[in-house]
Amino acid sequence: MIKKTIHNIYSKVTWPFLANGVYCFNYHRIGDKDTSLFDPNVFSCTAEQFEKHIIFYNQTFTVISIEQLIEKIESNQVIDKKYAVITFDDGYVDNYTAAFPILKKYHTPAAFYIATDYLDEPHIPWWDEIAWLIRNSQVNSIQLTSWQEPVDISSGTIIDKVRTVLRVIKQENDRTMEDKIAELAKICQCNMPLEVRSIPLFMNWQQAKEMSDNGMHIGSHTLSHSILSHLSPDAQREEISLSKTKIESFLDKEVSSIAYPVGGKSAFTQVTQQLACEAGYKLAFSFIPGVIYSFNESNRYQLMRLPVDGDCTVNQLKNIIVRNK
Ligand SMILES: [Zn+2]
Repeated sequence: MIKKTIHNIYSKVTWPFLANGVYCFNYHRIGDKDTSLFDPNVFSCTAEQFEKHIIFYNQTFTVISIEQLIEKIESNQVIDKKYAVITFDDGYVDNYTAAFPILKKYHTPAAFYIATDYLDEPHIPWWDEIAWLIRNSQVNSIQLTSWQEPVDISSGTIIDKVRTVLRVIKQENDRTMEDKIAELAKICQCNMPLEVRSIPLFMNWQQAKEMSDNGMHIGSHTLSHSILSHLSPDAQREEISLSKTKIESFLDKEVSSIAYPVGGKSAFTQVTQQLACEAGYKLAFSFIPGVIYSFNESNRYQLMRLPVDGDCTVNQLKNIIVRNK
């Protein structure tokens, strides 16, 4: 509480003195997390909040497209203003149904990073499947064979329960996520039915094309959303290059940027950055929080972004900016 108040005061005091830089905001889902059957933690904000964000960006920053950002990087421009870049990861269908109409209304460009496997057929990603299993669990406590201790899911908010289980399940690296989910389903005594598995959670190619044709940038988030640093260089090359050519063939447009899945410091390597450059991408986004104050060869393939999450209001957005600047 005290920490929050200090943040609010800090935000008010320092807000007008924000430095010139490129502030790249990153969203995942837009909508009401309380009505979702899946992971509530991937909702950045509601559509109403998102519209307020867009008004705020246009009042506070010069909002630029990825193409304009590439131009600035390639001409090695000094960053002489406060620029904003709006990005979305994963390609959830609400990006098309909820965010795209608002972006169009305010003539504001944004970039959408899509994992191409997710667009090919209905797909429930592992974090959403795990969240569904927790929501529908018939037991109060779960413990996979490899876990040191059980996780109590009898009380607490669904947000906290899902966050805890995802944190524990991600720590185990010696078997596949499919194996872990199969064991979790058995322990929770529930299986995702076909009608849930068939829910179209992600946009389709036609929707991606419509956004692209209307001034939105579509970039790569790889083929399968695998963590690139866990793959061999050859497998990384395939994820990075094939996703580019696949999107280009559907959109009939060059794909010039990529966002690494998960994107934290341990999710990509120097090799990943080299491969992104060799594949012909002009820039790459990480998910390392921060603001870009200058362009150079060392940050071009790991550009930092500001995470927008947790039902974010405009005031919280200001706090995120101040906290990560
Ligand atoms: Zn992602």
